[in-house]
Amino acid sequence: MLFATLDAGGGLSVANPATDDTLATIKAYGTEEIARIIERADSVRPAWAARTAKDRAQVLRRWHDLMIAHQDELAALVTAESGKPLAEARGEVAYGAAFIEWFAEEGKRAYGETIPTFAPGKRVLTIKQGVGTCAGITPWNFPVAMITRKVAPALAAGCAMVVKPAEATPLAALALETLAHRAGVPEDLFRVVPTLDPVATGALFCNHPLVRKLSFTGSTGVGRKLMQQAATNITRLSLELGGNAPFIVFDDADLDAAVGGLMASKFRNSGQTCVCANRILVQDSIHDAFVRKVEERVAALVIGNGAEPGTTIGPLINQAAVEKVEALVADACAAGATVLAGGARAEAGAGFFEPTILTGVTPEMAVTSSEIFGPVVAVIRFADEAEAIRIANDTPYGLAAYFYARDMGRIWRVMEALEYGMVGVNDGIISTEVAPFGGIKHSGLGREGSRHGLDEYLELKYCLMGGIDR
Ligand code: NAD
Repeated sequence: MLFATLDAGGGLSVANPATDDTLATIKAYGTEEIARIIERADSVRPAWAARTAKDRAQVLRRWHDLMIAHQDELAALVTAESGKPLAEARGEVAYGAAFIEWFAEEGKRAYGETIPTFAPGKRVLTIKQGVGTCAGITPWNFPVAMITRKVAPALAAGCAMVVKPAEATPLAALALETLAHRAGVPEDLFRVVPTLDPVATGALFCNHPLVRKLSFTGSTGVGRKLMQQAATNITRLSLELGGNAPFIVFDDADLDAAVGGLMASKFRNSGQTCVCANRILVQDSIHDAFVRKVEERVAALVIGNGAEPGTTIGPLINQAAVEKVEALVADACAAGATVLAGGARAEAGAGFFEPTILTGVTPEMAVTSSEIFGPVVAVIRFADEAEAIRIANDTPYGLAAYFYARDMGRIWRVMEALEYGMVGVNDGIISTEVAPFGGIKHSGLGREGSRHGLDEYLELKYCLMGGIDR
């Protein structure tokens, strides 16, 4: 059994969104208990921080190796609790483990610097030290990777970490905790605390004097609340929030490559990723040819239980998600959009929505101003580069954007003009542990992954040394 804290008498019931079957009923932590867990984490942290970076890296490396050794079991858990197809779940486990491998190495390079001064007898140097005990709050759409992307840099930097996973997907999180402890991460240093009261837990994380940093991935609304609460204790924050990604196809694009990129970006996890293509902007002259190619590819998608081989579109996470997508499609149709494919709940079960193509979409429709979080391709036509950029930037979000073009001048102009934290140029999948993942505007603060992801868990201290020439 990969999750040690499974407790039949617990209060949190976890269901399979493909079948509605209960997978497990686990212990739900209360805030008083979580406060004690934070205190214990903080008490073991100094000993962990005192170990060498190489020593910490070896422990992290073992955690990575255990994840890979248990890739199939972890993937099965992810599919069961989140609904995503098994092949995607395996990919997520590999992606999640890659952050641990990356930060095991990056933690060895928390370099300071020496800075020349203009005063005789003085030297300036900087050192980087772990921020202290940290908390994390994660969403259900990447139950593994959203945890390792936070915990690996925290542990590499010498911090402790207490994570509250999403109510829908605590099982993979508990399995990761078990593997981390088996790898040698001290038990109290990293804890996963499923709860039925995310609001009180969020408030506790923001207000507990021992929590120096909170890293949150989830919706912009919750991120905003946490930021307000964090003001009391001046708690450091990283916020990875919602997006509304434009996916622009210019008339000089390689159309087949663009269709491939769209399918990967749009339909991964049934359209439930923060970096999913949300508004598909297609230039007039290639619009019909592009849409025809997308239709062919959409017709080949296979809806079903993610555990069945060959499934490419699993269920949405819950009924509320299905209702939201249904309402957005109905609203677009009422406002003049046309359904070219799908457009309704699928026969596979109550939690499924058909892969859908809408044409004739305009920027005024709710389907383009909201994060759809479902398998809907909403196509907007545009005339020229200036119009595409204007539509693309006309949103409070700024996470990911994509465009396909060949002309080098256009590539540079558009890349620089898009007001986003991440831009995919002729590529629809941008997530990798080597790159700084994160957004601007209402999409958040801070970066995860790459060397910048380590800095989020380090404080920069400057020391002035005087009297050197005396
Ligand atoms: P959500 O904000 O409802 O929930 C995310 C987490 O916050 C869950 O663990 C939930 O229990 C917790 N939570 C809910 N209310 C809270 C509160 N008041 N205080 C503290 N915690 C609270 O989001 P969701 O629906 O689970 O996830 C989807 C959202 O996450 C989308 O908007 C998506 O774009 C975003 N997301 C962003 C990224 C990114 O890296 N930018 C990655 C994945 C998902």
